[in-house]
Amino acid sequence: MTAEKSLRFRAILGPAGIERDRTVDIGPDGRIRDIRSGSGPFDGFLALPGLTNAHSHAFQRALAGFGEAASGEASFWSWRDAMYRLAARVTPERLFDIARRAYSEMLRGGFTRVIEFHYLHHGPDGARGTAMAEAVTDAAGEVGLPITFLPVYYRTSGFDGAPATADQARFSFVSVDEFLSWIETLGSRADGAAPHSLRAVPPAELDTLATGIRDLLGEDAPLHIHVSEQTREVAECEERFGATPIDLLMDTVSVDRRWSLVHATHATPSERERIRTSGATVVLCPLTEAYLGDGVFEAREHSRAGGFAAVGTDANTRLSAADELRCLEYGQRLRDERRARLANERGLGSSLWSWLVEGGARAAGHTDHGLRAGAPADLVVLDPGGPALLGHEPESALDAWLIGGDDRDIAAVYVAGAVKARGGTIPDEGEIADRFAGTLRAIWAD
Ligand SMILES: [Zn+2]
Repeated sequence: MTAEKSLRFRAILGPAGIERDRTVDIGPDGRIRDIRSGSGPFDGFLALPGLTNAHSHAFQRALAGFGEAASGEASFWSWRDAMYRLAARVTPERLFDIARRAYSEMLRGGFTRVIEFHYLHHGPDGARGTAMAEAVTDAAGEVGLPITFLPVYYRTSGFDGAPATADQARFSFVSVDEFLSWIETLGSRADGAAPHSLRAVPPAELDTLATGIRDLLGEDAPLHIHVSEQTREVAECEERFGATPIDLLMDTVSVDRRWSLVHATHATPSERERIRTSGATVVLCPLTEAYLGDGVFEAREHSRAGGFAAVGTDANTRLSAADELRCLEYGQRLRDERRARLANERGLGSSLWSWLVEGGARAAGHTDHGLRAGAPADLVVLDPGGPALLGHEPESALDAWLIGGDDRDIAAVYVAGAVKARGGTIPDEGEIADRFAGTLRAIWAD
């Protein structure tokens, strides 16, 4: 709990755009009580509503830089082999060190919540336990990043329904029943669940899973799934089931606003329309989709049609809200050979940031978002002295940050009204970095 307080800003990004001279009143519950006009002295220059990182695999932070040599077909699938080699070497203690580093970088980079899509469950021999799940949630708690923890259900190695392979032993369960009883042992740590993908979960089990999670965790518990990320995945799905993955998902289980479809990269126009009318959120992971060579989702069309979208850092090679949004916009520009793809008449930042803040809240199963009464006082405050923002007024600062900025342009990050990162650093940064570096060396020396 934080004390009741008021913060005064030269400007905020409110529901209607940039609003100058605003005071944000924050209650002891860490939520915004009121936003009213105010004057200096100011506590900050431009306050943005905090952004949810809607898709993370924390342990993959330890893979950045280790999968870049040209080899074989250099595809997603050869990258996955490298990821499996890493997964085999991660103990609960190592996972805690990696996740703490990743989560501290997320806070510094402008994210105020993480949705963790957690599939590295068991011991290397498949032994059941909760130590890996605890390592992740404890790491988030220690750095002060709110977490929406989604344990993953993984059962098969492909669309043919073959059992999980030895490489997948740490991820997989033998049945929905086993998974649901394991979720019960996690108690309050689990917030929802994630059927991994249609290649790892037989479609016939999706409804049982969704119903079981609703019974255990409540009506609003989020459900996330990787879908339509790779063209090979789309082709295999069509071959096995005679339908593209998103159509198959929609035909198999009742998809509604509780659902988030991660990637949806190769969604057809009619699949996008089905996503939009269902109220589900598309979780875009622009840096990872570029890193893995996945392809480009039709984000401009989805946005124009009124669809919901959130942004996630997925493989965690770089943890920066500005970089993700820049990559998202630039992917659309490269595809269309045009500028200003996700912008409106006022610029790029205000509409794009607000769109993804709303989608991020939906992906976490929340209804309150943005800078308005009742929403959590999660704020990313930009620094007018930051390298990318020199000489800017609030009206152009967000665009300047998204086009050219990084963590050095963030003055402070607040979660529930309390400062968690300031001037690009967090408390205990040195110790977290040292532990991470030692763990990384030990993993790759194994
Ligand atoms: Zn993912």
